[in-house]
Amino acid sequence: MFAKLSVASLFLAAAVFAACASPAAPAPTESPASSPSTSSSALNVVATVSPITSVVENIGGTRIDLQGVVPEGVNSHTFEPAPSVAATLSQADLIFLNGLFLEEPTLEMAKANLKPGASIVSLGEQTITREEWQFDFSFPKEFEHPNPHLWPDPILTLRYAEIVRDNLSARDPANSDYYSANYDAFAARIASLDAAIKEAIPTIPPENRKLLTYHDSWAYFAGRYGVTVVGAAQPEDFSEPSAREVADLINQIQTEGIPAIFGSEVFPNDIMETIAAESGAVYIDELSDDDLPGAPGDPDHSYLGLEVANLKIIIPALGGDASALDEVDISPVFEGASNAVYPQ
Ligand SMILES: [Zn+2]
Repeated sequence: MFAKLSVASLFLAAAVFAACASPAAPAPTESPASSPSTSSSALNVVATVSPITSVVENIGGTRIDLQGVVPEGVNSHTFEPAPSVAATLSQADLIFLNGLFLEEPTLEMAKANLKPGASIVSLGEQTITREEWQFDFSFPKEFEHPNPHLWPDPILTLRYAEIVRDNLSARDPANSDYYSANYDAFAARIASLDAAIKEAIPTIPPENRKLLTYHDSWAYFAGRYGVTVVGAAQPEDFSEPSAREVADLINQIQTEGIPAIFGSEVFPNDIMETIAAESGAVYIDELSDDDLPGAPGDPDHSYLGLEVANLKIIIPALGGDASALDEVDISPVFEGASNAVYPQ
């Protein structure tokens, strides 16, 4: 009742003011209640890992308040949120997670602190069916926790973006056209990334289209683009591989003639260096699972930037030509600067 009255009186005051200030000026055509969200009324959105935060940022643009919770450069699989994250989660209207058991401690904290009427959206579960779950060395079937890395596959990430658009629009219908326009622009970027990958992968000699990484992030990507994940060094409990497992990997690299193997700064390098030295493969430790390139605010600090950066490392190392990736626009799809927060 009070809100209705004050909106009505504001509208009246604005109309009176407009009439007094300039009799020729048209009356305001919108009441404050139907204006696009401003920062004070914007949806409060939380996301977990940075690639997902970037997807949400692209769709929500400048019309949402967005806070990531998993700092870049930490192991997202073992990340335990600090108690202070509970306050952030308790204020959220929407919480986007990858799901598929990636962020269990954060999910538990989100459930325990959920604001009445708020929602937790688990993107992975809404993107692939149980039949499409991938299991492998690092994510063995007996644990019933699938490989959760859907986002390196851009077509699966486009589905994430669609779910984000639909959830933002349902909660904030006044801005649904804006979210839809951002989704359409993001979908065009994904289409150009997909086309560039389909152009670049075939330039890798067929016998080299094999990935061996420390941490297995490429299961879904590989299936889509005709690359084989031949192995990963990391056991399912995120400990280090045994001497037997290391010896098996060295044998496999030599048997398959794999020219390069890949790691990232988040995970231990010494074992991969040993495997490379013993097998004769080149070791490249620059891949990233969920740590975006550059710094927050840089144009390449984005999901698309992450994809292009990883592929420009992998494809040449396996003997291919990654120049098609140079054509992909990795900058944000929306105008202006968002207030997304990426903890470092
Ligand atoms: Zn990972």
